Amino acid sequence: MSHEPTAAPSGSPPVNLLALTEEGLGRLLQQFEWPRYRIGQILRWLYQRRAGSIAQMTDLSQKDREQLTHVATISRTQQCTVLESADGTRKFLLTLDDGLRIETVLIPDEERLTLCVSTQVGCMLDCGFCLTGTMGLKRNLKAHEIVDQVLTAQDHLTGEERLTNLVFMGMGEPLANIEALSSAIQCLINKSWGLGWSPRRITVSTAGLAARLKDVAALGVNLAISLNGTTEEQRQQLMPAVSQIASLKTLMAACRRYPLAPTRRLTFEYVLLAGVNDRDEDAHRLVKLLKGLRCKVNLIPFNEFPGNPFRRPTDRSVLAFQAILTRAGVDAFIRKSRGRDVLGACGQLGNLSPDYAGRALTQIESRC
Ligand code: SAH
Repeated sequence: MSHEPTAAPSGSPPVNLLALTEEGLGRLLQQFEWPRYRIGQILRWLYQRRAGSIAQMTDLSQKDREQLTHVATISRTQQCTVLESADGTRKFLLTLDDGLRIETVLIPDEERLTLCVSTQVGCMLDCGFCLTGTMGLKRNLKAHEIVDQVLTAQDHLTGEERLTNLVFMGMGEPLANIEALSSAIQCLINKSWGLGWSPRRITVSTAGLAARLKDVAALGVNLAISLNGTTEEQRQQLMPAVSQIASLKTLMAACRRYPLAPTRRLTFEYVLLAGVNDRDEDAHRLVKLLKGLRCKVNLIPFNEFPGNPFRRPTDRSVLAFQAILTRAGVDAFIRKSRGRDVLGACGQLGNLSPDYAGRALTQIESRC
């Protein structure tokens, strides 16, 4: 992080420890001439023990804690509303320091407990089937605001629950905020003081910022590409802004160049829109497009939301689409829609009040 605060000179507001990198914290502590291992100690309190205050850092002497309190603070998300879906999905509405709100979704599924994390407030892309896109981009999240979503979700877990997977598929386009995303992932995967996540359990999803796919490879996490269309025209219609940045041809070329580790495969996501991209011919084109790529496909039946003209296909046509892929040797999975009643499903994240989500429930369900 280039603009991170370092030491707070007397009189300036205290620095948020969570906003510092390991190096930044080292610089901050220089003024105290403490031994270097203090850095790891403090970071472990922040990430592994989720300390809410410096006073809790009991392996620092009282005096050291007081000194640190003069220049630093721990600023975690203060306000969090939890909406629980009938299917057990929980949506966290987090209010940021500047009053903007983001959403994080916790999805239990058999032995998995997946957290869907946001990377931006809103989104600069305008994919026609996505609620977040209608908000426009308010701002990028900072690295610590990304990590804080994981910490906050952990604070809310019940006794037995453990997060098993992290997916960057919440609000925003992760690769449009690559610097903060990378810093956040460093905290998440650091084993000595961070959260110790295996990169294999983390997936970053992109609408198609082709030039940045290589940055995901460098992080060692899994890559998912939201394809959603199989011709240039279709993608231009469904995902105009990102198609301007990279054509389907450019995107597929970048996928083919992607330095995939031998035991990994790419994931392609494909939102199924009734009568638009869910026909047999679409499935056949998809097979052709993916030929020779080590990959799997996640089919996402469109999650409807008020005011959007697209419709969810019937289960039958979803299965028919999947069957064409499977018969052609492409592994295809149908993503269960989770948390639709709290507008917590794919593409339903936007700054809607809980109240509105309640109304949407009636509207959505009455159509299905
Ligand atoms: N911007 C990133 C991550 C956020 S979207 C991306 O595009 O990948 C996460 C996934 O939800 C994407 O695959 C997207 O295509 C899908 N999606 C968006 N709106 C949807 C909707 N209304 N119903 C179902 N899936 C949707």
